[in-house]
Amino acid sequence: MPRHAASGTDEGVPVTENRETELLASVPDGLFIGGAWQAATGGRTLKVYDPSNGNVVKEIADASPEDGKAALDAAVDAFPAWAATPARERAEILRRAFDLLQERKEDFALLMTIEMGKPLAEARGEVAYGGEFLRWFSEETARVQGRYGANPEGTGRMIVSQHPVGPCFLITPWNFPLAMATRKIAPALAAGCTVVIKPAELTPLTTLAFAKLLEDAGLPKGVVNVFTTSTSGAVSEPIIRDPRLRKLSFTGSTQVGVKLLEQAAPGVIRTSMELGGNAPFVVFDDADLDKAVDGAMLAKFRNIGQACTAANRFLVHRSVAAEFARRVTERVQGMKIGRGTEDGVSIGPLIDDRAVAKATQLVQDAVTRGASVATGGHAVEGAGTFYAPTVVADVQPGSDILREEIFGPVLAIVPFDTEDEAVRLANDTEYGLVSYVFTESLARGQRMIERLETGMMGLNMGVVSNAAAPFGGWKMSGLGREGGAEGIHEYLQTKYTLTANPF
Ligand code: NAD
Repeated sequence: MPRHAASGTDEGVPVTENRETELLASVPDGLFIGGAWQAATGGRTLKVYDPSNGNVVKEIADASPEDGKAALDAAVDAFPAWAATPARERAEILRRAFDLLQERKEDFALLMTIEMGKPLAEARGEVAYGGEFLRWFSEETARVQGRYGANPEGTGRMIVSQHPVGPCFLITPWNFPLAMATRKIAPALAAGCTVVIKPAELTPLTTLAFAKLLEDAGLPKGVVNVFTTSTSGAVSEPIIRDPRLRKLSFTGSTQVGVKLLEQAAPGVIRTSMELGGNAPFVVFDDADLDKAVDGAMLAKFRNIGQACTAANRFLVHRSVAAEFARRVTERVQGMKIGRGTEDGVSIGPLIDDRAVAKATQLVQDAVTRGASVATGGHAVEGAGTFYAPTVVADVQPGSDILREEIFGPVLAIVPFDTEDEAVRLANDTEYGLVSYVFTESLARGQRMIERLETGMMGLNMGVVSNAAAPFGGWKMSGLGREGGAEGIHEYLQTKYTLTANPF
């Protein structure tokens, strides 16, 4: 598939080299600690790259363990005043942040396309989605409630109240640079917690720009502190082991999540874990194939396949498998590969060389075991880390692609014969984040809700994420929920008080 070189436009704001340069220059390059932008100890820096061409786009501060400790010190100092700030005031700041994000949405979208590679249209979608967490939790701030009532014996009064858990450490991945940050920062602030946030080294600029936005929205000093580092483990571990920290919220791979849970265990730190996925996408013989194909394109190719919610295994009833493969292949062959700023591009680069190597190896393994490549199946020559969108049919049991998170634009199809077999295959993974089911039968859809072991499900839908919904996984996909009415409770702790009978 050819790569296109034309430069694009977005909604009325042309993407020129000059605009990119100005935007990048406007992003802070320091650590944000106690309300001040500062260099890292010893002036160390790290480089941020554009994955579409390998160019360095900016150099930013590279924090040391001392810088990490300073960030936690600031969050600890700011906590009592922020926790005591009236809910309405906290809500107003979050709401101002939402409004400012709408004003700056084109800049945030372009910034994510530059540092992460997603097509500009999808980056705009992420700004909308990420912004909703600010609006949603600005509304939830004032809804934190308790209970008061007589105990059943009538001998006293019970009061149940909610309190912010304390200073929090938030660690986010590179694939959704804005939304993963707002999905944690907004509920934490709404609950009255202060935070230290560490974005991924590969895409730190969006979080730095967002910290600047929070500053502009009037957030008091030290409530949000940001550090960027090339040595995540060395800087994070002392923070997690510090007894002043009360909460760790992590989004990333299951492998790193398990390590962080171990570090959090001795201090009995509250944790939220949004980890990896291996989503089944089940197409029954009674599905509306048009809906299933539309859903598949979204569930697989959104974010160039680099989403924890990406459909990983397409389990398709044998009677419709060939037709499903034909239709998705046709759609995939029409996809344009290129830098996300170019017009009409839907497949940007993968995040780095390792991601390309992984997609290559998974497809090769599937083919060696008997699968056939309907389209794609190779890296794209030239600058940048591109992998052609791919359809692999007739994937055989035991193939690595069915066990591992692909995290790339590869759609792998496995035929099945019975509903029981589909359920067994769908649940045959240690992950349990999301599943997608396509059927026109209400009863079958209801059975799938009860039988599939995932925290979320798209029923005739290829995307489920919504700020008003509890996002999270079962099994090794995680602990806790982000968003929805549940989201704020990850940052609250309950106190029960028994008082004497007033009569
Ligand atoms: P990752 O686990 O490599 O990194 C995630 C974050 O952890 C990054 O900020 C990284 O710098 C940091 N990190 C890595 N090692 C660390 C350590 N020893 N101590 C402290 N921090 C450390 O994951 P990734 O490659 O950035 O993201 C992809 C993964 O994230 C995928 O598995 C994907 O499924 C998952 N993810 C899950 C969700 C969800 O909500 N469930 C959402 C997005 C991504």
